[in-house]
Amino acid sequence: MYEELEQIREKVLTCEKCALCKTRTNIVFSDGIPNPKLMLIGEAPGFYEDQQGKPFVGKAGQLLDRIFASVGFSRKDIYICNTLKCRPPDNRNPLPDEKEACWEYLKSQIDIIKPQIILLCGNVAVQSILPNIGGITKIRGKWYQGGDIVHGAKLMPIFHPSYLLRNDSREKGSPKWLMWQDIQEIKREYDKLG
Ligand code: URA
Ligand code: SF4
Repeated sequence: MYEELEQIREKVLTCEKCALCKTRTNIVFSDGIPNPKLMLIGEAPGFYEDQQGKPFVGKAGQLLDRIFASVGFSRKDIYICNTLKCRPPDNRNPLPDEKEACWEYLKSQIDIIKPQIILLCGNVAVQSILPNIGGITKIRGKWYQGGDIVHGAKLMPIFHPSYLLRNDSREKGSPKWLMWQDIQEIKREYDKLG
C-alpha cells in the first residue's frame, strides 16, 4: 500500500497537468498513515502547506489538529489530503479545470487506501465526491453512503477549519459548537468499525 501511494506521489511530483504547477513551491500530497480507517479530504494547499509540502500545517490545520485531539485522534490514526495537490495563487478557490485535472490523484488515493470513513472538509471537497448535494451548512454532520467511487465508504461533510476561524463563537448552535458535535459523532462511528 505504501509503495502504491509512493508511486502516485512520484507522478504528482512532476505533474504539469494544470497551470498550478508553474506557481507551486512544493506539491502537497498527504500526511498521516497509509492504512487508516479514516480519511480527511480538504480543499487545496495554502501558503504554509506549499512551503512545507504538508497538508493542514497553517492556522486552520492547527485548529483541525485540536478538533481531532478532542476525541483522541492524531495524525497517526488518519490520512489527510486535498482535492488539489498544488496551491492556487492567493488561496483562491480551485477552478473547475484544476479540479478535473487533479481528480485522478485523489481517486487513486481513495482506491489504494479504501478508508471506511471519509470526511469531506468544506464545500470544495464535498463537491468532488457528492456533487449537487447542497451547501455545507445544510449537509454537515450527516452520514452519506458513498457509492462505488469511494468503495462504499461512509461519508460525512464537515465544516472547513478556515470557516471556523472566521466564526469564532462557541455558543450553542454556532459553527464551532456544531463541529464539536460532529467530531464526537465521527468518533462514535469510528469506534464501531472492526
Ligand atoms: N486548507 C486546506 O483545505 N487544505 C490544506 O492543506 C490547508 C488548508
Ligand atoms: Fe498536477 Fe494537480 Fe498540481 Fe495541477 S494541481 S499541476 S493537476 S498535481
